[in-house]
Amino acid sequence: MTIRPGAVVAVTGSGSGIGLATCERLLAEGAVVHGADVAPAPPSLAEHERYRHTQLNVTDTAAVGAWIDGVVAADGRLDGVVTAAGIASGGAVHLVDDASWDRTIAVNLTGTFAVCRAAATAMLGQEPIDDERGSIVTISSVEGIEGTAGGSAYNASKGGVVLLTKNLAIDYGRQGIRANVVCPGFIDTPLLSGVFSLDGVEDLVTDIREEHKLRRLGRPEEVAAAVVFLLSRDASFVTGHTMVVDGGYTAGRDHGTTTLMGL
Ligand code: NAD
Repeated sequence: MTIRPGAVVAVTGSGSGIGLATCERLLAEGAVVHGADVAPAPPSLAEHERYRHTQLNVTDTAAVGAWIDGVVAADGRLDGVVTAAGIASGGAVHLVDDASWDRTIAVNLTGTFAVCRAAATAMLGQEPIDDERGSIVTISSVEGIEGTAGGSAYNASKGGVVLLTKNLAIDYGRQGIRANVVCPGFIDTPLLSGVFSLDGVEDLVTDIREEHKLRRLGRPEEVAAAVVFLLSRDASFVTGHTMVVDGGYTAGRDHGTTTLMGL
């Protein structure tokens, strides 16, 4: 993929899962990567000469602004941003208390907003390279484009990310900023292991896996590949797009009719 060597990309949630895999792929492609996470730099990134880590909470919108300002001060520009920081939550609406709702929206939606606002501000202030000022990739979920039982706050937060991203694409396209959202299916990360280890959920894992038409969970690097494509020059005419990376989870229902046909 065509990531300009030395392109400067900021990634939240870089400590684990999809954010970590995205950083690893970007470094392999030759980018300078600024990661941010509540957690310290993971060992696989900490020693890399083109990786810089900042410990921050994306709900601290002032800290997010200072982080992006620091990226530009250190490396001269911001070519791309990826918002992978996020948390899981669940419960039918009548079971969700204010604190759980507020935390889910704060991290997944307001945190994404704060990073996109800071990134758009930085990108607007720089000259285009190859007609492009920058590329924004947000991480939503298949649960941001369709409902799931007990999804409530999480799905609401992720649905918000999808529409926030489309609005970014509309508002900044004329200035040469692209914005796209990636909606992963169920990906084998620590976040998902946490959900799957909840009481009773173990019994649902086979069913969840089977909902993916490829009959398996996704891998973080499979999401990272889509993210890096959307950041890259190969996606220079792609903006406002909602890209599922979901093994066919959202393709439609499978009632098994084709088994009658020998498949
Ligand atoms: P993960 O738990 O492996 O990684 C998430 C990272 O975000 C962690 O390192 C965590 O410390 C960090 N983080 C959490 N809250 C933060 C905050 N307030 N400020 C800064 N950093 C914070 O999870 P993952 O599975 O890699 O998920 C990454 C994103 O992908 C999330 O937005 C998640 O909702 C989304 N997603 C995951 C799946 C899945 O099945 N794993 C599916 C669809 C979407």
